[in-house]
Order: sequence, then C-alpha cells, then structure tokens
Amino acid sequence: MKNFPMFLRMDGRRVVICGGGGEAARKTRLVLKTEAEIVVLAPELDPELSGLVASGRAVHHPALREDTFDRAALAFVATGCPGLDAALADAARRAGAVVNVVDRPGMCDAFTPSIVDRDPVVVAIGTEGAAPVLGRAIKTEVETMLPPRLGPFVALAGRLRDAVAERIAPSARRGFWEWAFSGEAYRAHIDGRETAAAELLKAAIEAAQVPATTGHIALVGAGPGARDLLTLRAVQRLQQADVIFYDRLVDPEVLELARRDADRVFVGKEVGASSWPQDRIDALIVAEASRGRRVVRLKSGDPSVFGRAGEELAAARAAGIEVELVPGITAASAAAASLQQPLTERGEIDTFVATTGTCRPGDANPQRAGLARPGSSVAFYMAVERAAQVESDLLADGVPACCPVDIVASVSTERERHVRATLGTLSETVAGEGIQSPAILFLRYPKSMAVAGSEQARAVA
Ligand code: SAH
Repeated sequence: MKNFPMFLRMDGRRVVICGGGGEAARKTRLVLKTEAEIVVLAPELDPELSGLVASGRAVHHPALREDTFDRAALAFVATGCPGLDAALADAARRAGAVVNVVDRPGMCDAFTPSIVDRDPVVVAIGTEGAAPVLGRAIKTEVETMLPPRLGPFVALAGRLRDAVAERIAPSARRGFWEWAFSGEAYRAHIDGRETAAAELLKAAIEAAQVPATTGHIALVGAGPGARDLLTLRAVQRLQQADVIFYDRLVDPEVLELARRDADRVFVGKEVGASSWPQDRIDALIVAEASRGRRVVRLKSGDPSVFGRAGEELAAARAAGIEVELVPGITAASAAAASLQQPLTERGEIDTFVATTGTCRPGDANPQRAGLARPGSSVAFYMAVERAAQVESDLLADGVPACCPVDIVASVSTERERHVRATLGTLSETVAGEGIQSPAILFLRYPKSMAVAGSEQARAVA
C-alpha cells in the first residue's frame, strides 16, 4: 500500500481551495458534504463558487493572506498555473495542511478516493491512481449494495448508543446491535417506515432485551440472467438473506450478489431427477422463516409471471409470516429489449399477451382461439417443446402464416440466441435450429398484416 486510507477530522477546521475555476468547484462540491469551513483563494470565482460565497457557506480570499491557511486541514490546489500551484502547495504544507494538487500526483500528499456517501457511513475507494475508471465502477457496485436510507438509520442508532449502554447488559449488547442492523426495525427503516423503525428500536431498549428476530420471506425476481438486470431492491434482499432458495433458471452470476454466508438451496430440477414439488418448497420457506431467518425465494424473471408466486404467498400468509414480492424483469421484456422490438407499437400493436405453451400435467390445453388478434404481440413462455401445437392452433384460428415469430433463447446470458421464423415455419425452425429451453417465442401480428394475411389466405384457398 503506497497510500494509507484515513478519515480526516473536519469539524472546526478549514479547507482551502486554491483556484476559482471548474476543477476548484468540483473539489469544493466534495468538501461541501463536510463540516469544514471553506475558503476559496482566487482572484475570480466561477458562478457556482461565487454563489457559495454569497450564501455564506464559503469565504472568499481574492489574494493570499497571512491567515489563509490557518487551521487548514486540507488544501486543494487547482489554479491552472504550475508555478503558482507549487508555491501555494508549499505555503499550505508549511501551515500544516495536507495538500492535493489537482492532476499533479507528484506534488500530492494525499488523493481523493471515489466516495460512497451514506453519512455517517462512508466508503472510500482508491486504486493508487492505477485505475480510476475501475474505482468508479466499484463505487457503482457498492452504491447498489448499500440501501439509500442506510445513513439516517445508522445516525439514529448512533444517537441511541448511550441509551443502549445504559439499559442493555454488556453481554447482550452485541446481540442487540446485530438485531438492530438486520431485524424488523432495520427492515422498516430501509422500506421507508422510519417512525415505526425508531419506535421498534426504542421499545427494545426500553424492554432491555433483544427482541426475537422475526422471519421474513421475499419472493425476489432475478430477471432473465444478466446480473445488471436485477433491481436494486432485489440486490438488497440478496445481501440481507440468511437463506436463498433458487431454481434452475437463476443464473450463477446473480447468486454471486448474495451475502457470502447465506445458505443457498437449489430447489430446481437436476438433470435426470424430478424437480421439487411445490408444496415441499412452500413448507421449507415457511419453516425457515418461522425460525426467524430472512428467506429469499429467488425466481427467474418476474416472480408473478409463471412463477408460482401465488402458492408461496398463500403459504406464508397462512403461517402468519411477513412476505413481500420484489418484481423482476420478465423474459418477454428482456427479449423485446434484446431484439429492439417493443412489445407494443402505437398504431400497429395495442395489445400485449403473455401466455404459456405448457400447463400442469392433467390440465386442459391452453385455449388459443382469439389469443392472437390483429394488433397484438404474443410472448409464449415454456413453449419450445410445444411449438408445433402453438403453430397449428394459431393457424387454425386464422392467424396469417407470414406473421413473424422471433425465437429468443437464454436472453441476456452468454448463451443468448436469436432465430427468426414465421408462424408457418415455427416448429420446423425450432427443430431444425435445435432451439433449447429457456426461450421466448415472440409472435407479432400488426394490424397492417391482417389485410395482407387474409389476402394470402384467399390466395391459398
Ligand atoms: N418468471 C419467469 C418465467 C418462468 S417460466 C419470467 O418472468 O421470465 C420459464 C420460462 O420463462 C421459460 O420456459 C422461458 O420461456 C422463459 N424464460 C426464462 N428465462 C429466460 C431467458 N433468459 N431467455 C428466454 N426465455 C426465458
């Protein structure tokens, strides 16, 4: 480590910004978050800096004064003139300030990291100048991991520290804080119920005991595969989970976002074996949550689209367990994005249908009459093995054979494949191209095609 990370005290101290241009303004924006007194040393200021001076948040020294660097913890130097930069850096250093000269690493005592700010929680990321772009990418990752409302909750906990020390026995304190930062109060705060969160914390302190952790089930949409297609809320639930139940279509990339020490249970279908019966999964997630654990049931796409979410919601409710649904990007949306072919189109396609090719064994075949009308797009899920049936049902219903069908397999993963067919060549294409599940069959029946289609039908007749 060439550079050692430290947090500098800023209260009651001064930060001097030498320079009045854009770079100086950029550094000033960073310092604004702190409690430091800001002095801007420059003959002229850009409008942002003069606005700060006018508001009283910064003090303007048009020229160097004897007291400019008094009590200075830090000086940023960005005058744009190398000789002046060097002279001011020396003056600041003599006065005891840590110096950063913008774009001149050789003249710096310290460097500004990429910062993730959840004040009072602050994460600083540095790459010793080797890869600033990577530093910013890491910042983005950390930003997604830390809930936006984390800061105020930690600040509240900080204000309650003395009360906790007074009421909770030392031996129970660690358990208390573990509960505080993961239990019901924490969840309430992160979800925006801040008053309830504060009341829960205070009630626990008042009762002088660590509340039993209440279990929780989140049915979380994992999206189609690519991990950057998860929602931030999904990432947060994965980070908070004690145990994660996932199935076959959940990409390993997505599981990497989970808390390291969360248990992971695969409940999908192994090759050659049968998949877990749904009632066994229902019973398991309920049993885990009843033990006070935070359960994530991770499902591909959106849990509410062919995801059996209804059964799991019902099981949780019947057991009196707090349950939530975190939506995800469903395969049809991801396929449309990949094709750059919107699901609806003004004037041409005003109806979007999501349907399935496969039903539970024993259920009647899906009714396809009237499913694809002029002006609709239809996404068939779980239909690779039923392509021939879909094709013949729709043709029999009068859908033109020339309607385009995009077959999009494993969308958003490195195995993604796209093959174009028409309704008339659908099953032949699926077989001939060796299309593997998971895939979306995406049929488009624009209004303009209804006319052409009926002409074609007449011609064939
Ligand atoms: N809840 C999921 C659907 C589960 S049903 C969702 O909202 O996407 C399983 C079907 O989803 C598969 O048979 C396939 O039709 C579709 N599917 C899931 N992931 C897919 C992917 N990455 N690419 C294409 N289709 C996918």
